[in-house]
Parts: sequence; structure tokens; C-alpha cells
Amino acid sequence: MADADTASADTAVAETAAAGYVIVGGGMVADAAARGIRERDATGSILILSDDVDQPYTRPALSKKLWTDDSFTTSDNDLGTAAETGAEIRLRTSVDRIDRTGRTVTTTDGETIGYGRLLLATGGRPKTLDLPDDDRVIYFRTAADYRNLRELSGSGKHVAVIGGGYIGSELAAALVQNDTAVTIVFPDPDLGASLFPERVDAKFESRFVEHGVTLRANSRLRGGTAKGDGFELVLDDGSTLRADGVAVGLGIEPNTELAEKAGLAVDDGILVDARLATDDPFVYSAGDVASYPDPILGRRRVEHVDNAKEQGAAVGRIMAGSDEKYTHTPMYYSDVFDLGYEAVGRLDASLETVEDWKDDDSVVVYYLEGGVPVGVLLWNVWDSTDKARQILAEARALTPDNLVGLI
Ligand SMILES: Cc1cc2nc3c(=O)[nH]c(=O)nc-3n(C[C@H](O)[C@H](O)[C@H](O)COP(=O)(O)OP(=O)(O)OC[C@H]3O[C@@H](n4cnc5c(N)ncnc54)[C@H](O)[C@@H]3O)c2cc1C
Repeated sequence: MADADTASADTAVAETAAAGYVIVGGGMVADAAARGIRERDATGSILILSDDVDQPYTRPALSKKLWTDDSFTTSDNDLGTAAETGAEIRLRTSVDRIDRTGRTVTTTDGETIGYGRLLLATGGRPKTLDLPDDDRVIYFRTAADYRNLRELSGSGKHVAVIGGGYIGSELAAALVQNDTAVTIVFPDPDLGASLFPERVDAKFESRFVEHGVTLRANSRLRGGTAKGDGFELVLDDGSTLRADGVAVGLGIEPNTELAEKAGLAVDDGILVDARLATDDPFVYSAGDVASYPDPILGRRRVEHVDNAKEQGAAVGRIMAGSDEKYTHTPMYYSDVFDLGYEAVGRLDASLETVEDWKDDDSVVVYYLEGGVPVGVLLWNVWDSTDKARQILAEARALTPDNLVGLI
């Protein structure tokens, strides 16, 4: 990774003034990075090359607010990146190649563009299943996927949601609250069983049952075929399920291929140092695609919005000459029905857990590995992520029996 001195502030500003900032990817990191650049550089040119069909928008709203708040529309969800930062955004534009010697990128349309500083904010793409390529099968990630799912749902239609992680569970909750029959198919014995201890998990799952979601636990999708105006899905126990549409939320694969082709170091994500630089001092990376050294939790790749915003803003400032390091340990959150949680570190129900119930609906859960806290779940407990970070930072000095009451 780049030596901080190589990409010093003065050099960065001089170079970028000549050739500009190029950002590959038009997601939340691109938006935050453009704003970060503007904190230090009011005039340098910013070019965002995005293969999406929409201007940058807030992804979390696609599975929550756009379904649950009638006054919130897709245009409210637009981040306003171009208007507020002056960035030029080219949509439907995919970058195919980086020439690090010549400092250029080439798009799949064959256009070659020079850069002073390059940010790889290519995020991730949804994991797919062996299902027909069909508009009614949605690997949910983009605003276009949201629009498609709206078309497929409502009016009592039946949507099968595949995957019980946070995207799958949020989509199931969103759909069932919008006049849609929902079956959720997931491999765990209970919804949320891989994340939460039993008592929390029972509360989580019961909300879905109360709202009429059909749960197909201990199940995986084996395949499916289009039948008439719907789909027939086959589960691994041989049973079948008919649905008008299928929404899949099985996690993402980081889009690292462009970096790999350019000879940059990649290990699960694009490897960056504490200044979010790759092993090329003119190329940076941030967000879902980047593997960075977290000061508390160690090297990791984080697929969450707090990280996208904070890391995006930091990398923008750094590319524009700031000498800062990225020291923020991100939190993440999810909301379904009237439940919500925030968390820092690992949520893994196979770890030892210590529960600190505040009342019947609110609990702090500590996840321990070798007796040391590695994750904190704040379930209906708010304004406590800083405290959770502090506990994880001091984890080695704590014992399981003195955790209760710390938050
Ligand atoms: C439905 C949904 C709900 C979510 N809810 C939450 C939540 O409640 N809480 C939370 O913490 N996080 C949530 N997240 C995660 C959060 O939104 C992401 O972590 C964040 O948006 C990642 O931003 P990014 O810019 O790194 O990547 P992305 O948003 O993936 O953006 C990268 C963009 O780059 C494009 N791209 C890739 N390669 C190229 C190329 N070669 N050329 C041009 N463009 C390219 C991609 O197609 C994509 O448009 C949610 C995500 C989704 C999908």
C-alpha cells in the first residue's frame, strides 16, 4: 500500500488540479467522496463513471423508507451529488481497464480518460442463484430493482423472498406491509438465528409471523421455472412454491475484478492502508469493495452505510490533500416493523453471548470470542454506538461478568 509520504497533500493537490479526480462507481461512496473532495478543493474537476442507470441514491431506503413512508418518494432518495458538488456523472458507463502507468481508465465503450487521483468505489454485486434470467427474479440491490419489485408486488400478489439475512428480512417486512403475500425461504431453524441469541431471535421472528409472513425455515432454493405469469420454485426438500415474483437477498460479492486486472493487491476486497490508498499512491478505494485496517476490529471489509459515508468522505478529503487517516469504526443498523437495532463488530449467534435486558423489548448483547467482546448488539437501545466502540476498544481488559450495566 502507498506510503503516506508518496501521496503527500501538496503533490495530491497539484496533480489533481491538472488532471482531476475520477471515481469509478456511482454509489453512496462516490457521493460522499465528491463531498469530501469539496471540503478541501472547491474547483478540481470530479468525474464519476457509473454503470447504474440512476444518479447516486441512498440504498438503505430501497428496502425500508420507500415502502413504509408514503410521503418519501424516489426523488427524495436522490443524493443530489451533481448539483451539490459540481461533479460530472456519466451513467450507464462501465470502466473496463486501468492503465496505472499512463494514469488513465478506459470504458467498455472504448473511451480513455486521464486521472490525477483515481477512486475505486465499485461496491458489490448480489450473489445469484440458478434461476432463469427473468424480470420477475430480482437480485435486490439497485433503485431499478426497487422499481421492478414495486411492479411485481401489491394487490395481494405473492412474492417469494430468498434469504433470511438483513436484506431478505427487510424486504419481507416491506412487502407484507404493502398488500403483498410473502413467503421467506431461509436455511436457519429460525429467522435471525445466525445473528441473535434465542430470546432476541424469538421476538424478531414473531413479528413476521404476526404480520402474516410465511416462514420456510431450514430450506434452500434448489431451482425454479417460469410458469404462466408466475414462477414455480423448488426447495431442497423437493416441495414446490408458486409465486408471482422472486426477490433474492443473499449478500454480495465485492467488485474487485477491475483492481485485480490492474495488478492492485486484492484479498477478499481491494487492500488499502489507513489512508485508504492502494499499493499505487494515485489509486484509492473505499466502501463495500475495500479491505481496510480498522483500529479496533482489525483488517476487514464492511458492507454497511455508515462505513460508506464516513470512508467515502475521508477518502475524498485525503485525495484532495488531507493528511488524515481513516480511524472510524463503523456501526450498522437494520429496521423491520417496529423493531430496530444498531451494532458494532461481529454479530454471530455461534459465539458466546452475554445479554443485558433493559426491558422486555430492549437488550444489549455482547458477543465474545475466547472470553473477549468482539461485537455489541443494541436492540431497541439508541445513542450508544460510541459506548459500544469504547467497550470493543477496551475489550481485553473486560471480563464477561462485568459487561452487564456498561451500556
Ligand atoms: C437494499 C439495501 C439496503 C441496505 N440497508 C442498509 C442498512 O439498513 N444499514 C446499513 O448499514 N447498510 C445497508 N445497506 C448497505 C449500504 O447501502 C452499502 O454498504 C453502501 O451503499 C455501499 O456503497 P458503495 O458505494 O461502497 O457500493 P455500491 O452501493 O455497491 O456502489 C458501487 C457502484 O459501482 C458500480 N460499479 C461497479 N463496477 C463498476 C465499473 N467497473 N464501472 C462503473 N461502475 C461500476 C456498481 O454497479 C454500483 O452502482 C443496504 C444495502 C442495500 C442494497
